[in-house]
Parts: sequence; C-alpha cells; structure tokens
Amino acid sequence: MTAAHRRGGSVSIRAALVGMRGRGVTVAAVLALGFTLGCGTSEGRRPVLLIGIDAFTWDLLNRAETPNLDAIVSRGVRAEWLVPVFPTKTFPNHYSIATGLYPEQHGIVANNMLDPDIDERFSLGNRAAVEDGRWWEGEPVWVTAEKAGVRAAAFFWPGTETAIQGIRPTFWRPYEHATPNDERVDQVLAWMDLPSAERPWLVTTYFADVDDATHRFGMSAPETEAAIREVDRAIGRLVRGLEARGLLDDVNLVVVSDHGMTPTSRERVIFLDDYIDVANVDVIDWTPVAAIRPDSGREDEVFGRLTDAHPHLSVFRKAELPERWRYRNHRRIQPIIAVADEGWEITTRKYFEERTTTFTGATHGYDNALPSMRAIFLAAGPSFRRGVVVRPFQNIHVYELLCRVLRIEPAANAGSFDSVAAMLR
Ligand code: AMP
Ligand code: ZN
Ligand code: ZN
Repeated sequence: MTAAHRRGGSVSIRAALVGMRGRGVTVAAVLALGFTLGCGTSEGRRPVLLIGIDAFTWDLLNRAETPNLDAIVSRGVRAEWLVPVFPTKTFPNHYSIATGLYPEQHGIVANNMLDPDIDERFSLGNRAAVEDGRWWEGEPVWVTAEKAGVRAAAFFWPGTETAIQGIRPTFWRPYEHATPNDERVDQVLAWMDLPSAERPWLVTTYFADVDDATHRFGMSAPETEAAIREVDRAIGRLVRGLEARGLLDDVNLVVVSDHGMTPTSRERVIFLDDYIDVANVDVIDWTPVAAIRPDSGREDEVFGRLTDAHPHLSVFRKAELPERWRYRNHRRIQPIIAVADEGWEITTRKYFEERTTTFTGATHGYDNALPSMRAIFLAAGPSFRRGVVVRPFQNIHVYELLCRVLRIEPAANAGSFDSVAAMLR
C-alpha cells in the first residue's frame, strides 16, 4: 500500500478513532473529527474485488488442485454452496448477484430474449443489445456505488458495459472473450495502484474458462481440470499482486460463480418439432429452458400439443410457472416455458443432425434447486471472519453484503443482510 493509498483510505482514520475512543473521547467528538478531516469515506469502507468464475460448480474445489482458492477459504469464509436463480444461465445470475433482484425484477430473464414492447431481441453476442440500457432494470452494485460517489471498475461483468440509470462504472471494458486472464488481473492490479482519489473501491472481473471447457468436454475431462487450474492460477496472480503491494489484508476478495453444470448426452435430447410445427411459433430461447411465443391465436393449441409430449419436458403457461422460481412477472418471459429435466436438451431434428458434436459435454439452465446447479461463494479480507463455513444462501443476498462492506446504502432489493451477516466480522 502506498502512502497516498493509506491516507485516502479508511485505515489511518480508523486507527485514529480507536486510539481516541481509548482516551474517553465522546462519540459526537469522533463524528465531528470525521467531518473536519473530510475523509469522504465512512469509517470501515474497504475495497472489494468481486471475481466471477463462470460455471464453477459447488463441488469443483474438490475435483482439481486449487491452491489459491483453497488459500482464500482458509483465511476467510465459504458458503457450503450458493443457490442460483432460475434460469441457471450466465446473464440472469450475474445480474442477480449484482442487483439482489430476481430475473423477473431486473429484466435479464434469459441469455436470449425478446421484448415485446420494443420488438427487439437480446443475445450475448449482440453488442448493441448488451450495451443498451433499456434491457437492464434494477440497480446493480456499481451504480449504487457510483451514485454514492464511490468509484467502481469492471474488467467484465454482465451489465457493466452499459449505462444503467445513465451510469456506468468509472472504468469498464467491452466484453472480449479472448482477452487473456493475465491481462484482466493486471488491469485490476493497475486500478489498485491509482492514487486514492482515483482508485475504485469496487472492482469486478470474470473468468470464462471453466464454462467453456465443461460445455465442450464435459465435467471430468482433462480440459476441464486444466480450466479449473488456469482460473485458480489467475486468481493466484491477483493475490500475489495484492501481496506485493501490501494490500492483501486491506482488500476484500469475494469469489462467486453463477451456476453449476451437469452432463448432457446425444441420448437425452427432446425434439420440439416432433410435437409442434416450429414454423408457427417463435422460439426465443431453446435449451434447456425453451421460451416459446406462439403465433397469435395458437397459444392453446401449442400448449396442448406440448403438455405431456415428452416424459422429460415440463411445460408451463407463464402464469402457472412454479412459485419458487419467482419467474412470472415480466413482459420478456414468454407465454409458454418448457423446461427440460436435468441433463436433457431441447432442439430440432435438423439442428441435431447438422451438428454431430453438440449435446455431448455438459450444460446448465435447469431448475435452480438441483444440486448440480449449485454455485460457489468464497470471501476473505478485513471485513470477513476467518475459517468459517456458512450454510448455503441465495445469490440475491450478495448485493446486500457488498453494499455493507462498501458502506453504501443499498437500493430496494429482494435480498436481506440477515442472510449473510454471519460471515462478517
Ligand atoms: P452461457 O451461455 O450461460 O454459458 O454464457 C456463457 C458465456 O457468456 C461465456 O462464454 C461468455 O462468452 C459470455 N459472456 C460473459 N460475459 C459477457 C459479456 N459481458 N458480454 C457478452 N458475453 C459475455
Ligand atoms: Zn455462466
Ligand atoms: Zn455456460
């Protein structure tokens, strides 16, 4: 930690306050001191580095050597697992972690969407849509921070590339899948090197290797093990970078994943065109959660044909989706939602026959109550207890936790601080 860092941060202020309390100074005097120093930060604010590891299933820590993640666990806290939101896809879950809201509340209800009000589509590869603030409802933690005058930076996190409520993180990058992990880590460290007035307090980064490898090669492939080790190595580089700067004990590291993974097979495929004429419907998202928009006047017919069509497919009208998914009340949730059982995929005969290597690895998107969809939560740093394992909790509570550690007032959200309070010192 540089001298400038220390002056701007809360560390020296906190030490002064503790010393003064010891000498019997009143609370009012202590508060007044805070104002006269004009420190601009509440007592106890610590930087947070939020790391997202895509598709790091809860039990992967045991499947490969992860010395750097293990070290975070041993000097901090771990949840037995983190419960994702439905559907267990990347964008809905990263944005629920960031906002404390369910997808029906934040509007990112899938990776592929149609908004009937504006008649526009959203997909991960559609840069214009990903950077269009109309898709992103609710308030992510970096916007809460920036509104409070607390700077944020993102080297990737879904939603950080767009102005939400007109606000972006102070520093951000348009998503580029090929960016090497070391470049991400080194930029995060460079942000921590900025003078205190410029330095962000909340920094996010994201690693896709494990999602890539498991989709392609499956859960227990050597490539997946290599991907787990690669992400662990990159996190090790970050930790050593913090250590070299004398920052490791001042920074809160929070490591989460968005969802788990489960094996798929070409033997477990549901062909939608065996039951309905796909020319009469718009399938907005395909698998394992199909979002189906029948042509006008055909909804009952399509629903009737799909109901009980396949023993491994559950079909719901929007209004009848299970309560526990909290997945009904948004215009981007389509009239018919068909959900495949664990390990099953939904496609058409043509799509399946044209691709001989798809549906062979693993995937996610299924019921968020399935053990295979569980994610991870690990954290270490000055705000967290040491050596504590807490009960599983839902990822919508992470927003409250981040706001507390950053000493910012959370926006309205579905999470509760009580659900995560036991992890904090
Ligand atoms: P999924 O289809 O749910 O497995 O999504 C995983 C994919 O999301 C990864 O392969 C990434 O390429 C992609 N992704 C992650 N973050 C972003 C982003 N900010 N913008 C666009 N794509 C992203
Ligand atoms: Zn993901
Ligand atoms: Zn994925």
